Amino acid sequence: MNETGLFELKANLKDLKLSAMVRELETTLRQARDSGMGYDELLIDLTRLEIASRAANRLKRRIREAWFPLLKPLETFDLSAVPELDIRMFRELTTCEYIREHRNVIFLGPSGTGKTHMATALGLEACKNNYRTRFVTCYGLVNELIEAREDRDLQRLLKRYSRYDLLILDELGYIPFSKEGAELLFQVLAERHEKGSVMITSNLGFADWTQVFGDQAMTAALLDRLTHKARIINCNWESYRLRQSLADRRSNGSEISQSCEQPRQGQGTDQPVSVTR
Ligand code: ADP
Ligand code: MG
Repeated sequence: MNETGLFELKANLKDLKLSAMVRELETTLRQARDSGMGYDELLIDLTRLEIASRAANRLKRRIREAWFPLLKPLETFDLSAVPELDIRMFRELTTCEYIREHRNVIFLGPSGTGKTHMATALGLEACKNNYRTRFVTCYGLVNELIEAREDRDLQRLLKRYSRYDLLILDELGYIPFSKEGAELLFQVLAERHEKGSVMITSNLGFADWTQVFGDQAMTAALLDRLTHKARIINCNWESYRLRQSLADRRSNGSEISQSCEQPRQGQGTDQPVSVTR
């Protein structure tokens, strides 16, 4: 292709916003020339590059917009460390079918059991499947809602929260809300009922949710909606960190006991076995 042709082709691709094709054009043309590639293959290659680049950009945007506190992908979650987890249900969640069906997911269990990790990993899977995802702590969301109401901006915020395909609410129950906060959170959740998925992590059992929301009738209405066709995962196992530190201590302990055994065998460091003996 001559200089003028290349110039026009680049300009056209730019106009059509095919930026990856613009970027890769010259290299791909050169490779095509060198390998004797036909025009059909060349076009397939270039369009593939554009599609791959758009998918990567979309994923980056979805992840950025989700505001995950840490990026903890599925691969970093050690399933063998939690044999009590219903693996079949967890694997099913990784397919994001529950988002298509507008079902909710609730993780209940004590601190350190991996609830936030699992919610983040599933949130990342949702992003990969191009679902609009938002991760927020319950406390953070309630504060945001209260501020928006003070700024007369509540309707806009409620609308934004209703548009996410998956809303992850982390740490329900860590901090109780004011009556106003509880009502606002109720509004967000009620708005999404059967329209979008909510994933909640909580250290409290359902029976204790009234403590957080204050109002018994409101809690009952909320639970009724949230748990309807929901996937509930009870994380009733020991804290991962605790298991880890116990395991560390056990392995350190065995090292200590090994080194303790040495002096008994006459090989201690304070009385080394002399090579000259
Ligand atoms: P929770 O939200 O239940 O309090 P976290 O998700 O914050 O617990 O987990 C506590 C720590 O332990 C985090 O650093 C998390 O990445 C890690 N963790 C928990 N469970 C696992 C697991 N099964 N595999 C790998 N890391 C885990
Ligand atoms: Mg957590």
